[in-house]
Amino acid sequence: MMDEFSFIRSIQPKFYRQASVMKGISDDAAVIRPLDGDFVTAVDTMVEGVHFTRETMDPEHIGWRVLAANLSDLAAMGSTPRFYMVSITIPKSWSEQELQAVYQGMKRLADLYDVDLIGGDTVSGQELSLTVTVIGSVSKDKARYRSHAQAGDLLFVTGTLGDSRGGLEYLLTGSTASSDGLDYLIQRHRTPEPRITFASSLASLNRMALNDVSDGIASEANEIAAASHMDLIIDPEVVPYSKALERCYPGHYQAWMFSGGEDFELLGTVPEKDWAVVEKTAESVGVRVTRIGYVEHMRSDSPSVWLAKDGGRERLDASGYTHLKEEGE
Ligand code: ADP
Ligand code: MG
Repeated sequence: MMDEFSFIRSIQPKFYRQASVMKGISDDAAVIRPLDGDFVTAVDTMVEGVHFTRETMDPEHIGWRVLAANLSDLAAMGSTPRFYMVSITIPKSWSEQELQAVYQGMKRLADLYDVDLIGGDTVSGQELSLTVTVIGSVSKDKARYRSHAQAGDLLFVTGTLGDSRGGLEYLLTGSTASSDGLDYLIQRHRTPEPRITFASSLASLNRMALNDVSDGIASEANEIAAASHMDLIIDPEVVPYSKALERCYPGHYQAWMFSGGEDFELLGTVPEKDWAVVEKTAESVGVRVTRIGYVEHMRSDSPSVWLAKDGGRERLDASGYTHLKEEGE
């Protein structure tokens, strides 16, 4: 590999946007002056050959994608991202230019939200591996937990679902029923937009459960149900999907809405009385939001997610599989 010191120098920020950075990259560790409120932190790793390949992603996309996954976790806590740190394992086959492109991808996304790179670690190894740690802040006791859903809340989701899965399908197989909207699906896969502004703009709401869509809403809905000890009921007729996905993958889009992951949209619940605020906020930040169901007390002793179908309901498991049984009571 190239010289580690010159590499670090090449990715070192020229200035920091967050006034609380006392010492960024250059010393043994970073120093941050505490902010008001609670800190929120998350870490995510992407490994070449496991989470991405160079066939489907350019270096910039890889950087964007790994940071996006992290920022999406912070959005799902209702927090504002502030800092990130990057631990990178570099194989001989990657050039310095390609690695700088990975960092450029992270920086392009980070700059949109004034998030600062404040440190990291550089080692050599067999596969490219990127571990990104993010730190954000949220007003005291205002983090949005999965356990916050209550009976009577309505269930909503941002954006459209399954697009990233569609983009990946095309990049892997080259097969599609249409070329109309393909670019959109590919972009949704390579450079997803975490819903940071939407989530942090809802800070005035007293209570909200949030989870970000990394595996597919079937999975995330089950996580909210389990953490809250509630049942979630979804109307499959109103779950939002894009025209592009329907056109390109008419045989798949309905399954991918539930099980296609990595859209990095937000799934949440709020009391009915707060819905107008959610809708207004979504409109003002340019994010689509759709009411797709509601929260109920558990029907059995295990929290479940149900699809409302023909007057009855089918249980939706975390993988997106539906079980035909238990009509009403
Ligand atoms: P040390 O040997 O004291 O751990 P390093 O030489 O590894 O220090 O790192 C020097 C500085 O560069 C530190 O501020 C560290 O956080 C930063 N740094 C090292 N590698 C990376 C990286 N891959 N991405 C971002 N910052 C890095
Ligand atoms: Mg040191």
